Amino acid sequence: MTSDPIHPDPVCARLQALIHDVPNFPKPGIVFKDITPLLADAQAFSAAIERLAGRLAAHAPAGIVAIESRGFIFGAALARELRLPLLPVRKPGKLPRKTVAARYELEYGSDALEMHADAIRAGVRYAVVDDVIATGGTAAATAELVRSQGGAVACYGFLIELSFLDGRRRLDGAPLEALIRY
Ligand code: AMP
Repeated sequence: MTSDPIHPDPVCARLQALIHDVPNFPKPGIVFKDITPLLADAQAFSAAIERLAGRLAAHAPAGIVAIESRGFIFGAALARELRLPLLPVRKPGKLPRKTVAARYELEYGSDALEMHADAIRAGVRYAVVDDVIATGGTAAATAELVRSQGGAVACYGFLIELSFLDGRRRLDGAPLEALIRY
């Protein structure tokens, strides 16, 4: 896969150079985007958070809804940067109190995501955050969780959008911010 930076932004181009393509992981045919070299570069990670925080702030979210597990890395840092509440979305069975769940389809079978039933406040707009958007199923299920509790999606924030998979088509049209596109 080529890595043509669509952004002329030199900061984003520098971030993109720190994403390593790992072919055939976790299974044949998948090119895994390894973000660990970016995380290991303190200046790059800091620049990524500042840049994404600025983009999300323009949509005035009142909280950050972060998706397990790599979404927590970015969601937590963004919540701290923007001084916003952080609401974790977890794999089933991890949250200790009453939860709400959304199921979503995978290539084979289905999976589910959960939030605490009292996490979302009705009428409030949230930013949904993950490291990568691929087919969009994970982000779409998270948006469904937010909406099912009376909240709204102000925007989506990702480090990376795999735009050739057109995941954004599965979302609701709320603005999508991604620093790096393939
Ligand atoms: P999707 O539901 O297809 O949009 O997949 C998004 C989730 O899967 C995110 O939580 C990503 O961390 C992970 N993911 C999907 N594809 C990749 C990839 N090529 N490289 C790294 N992570 C990926």
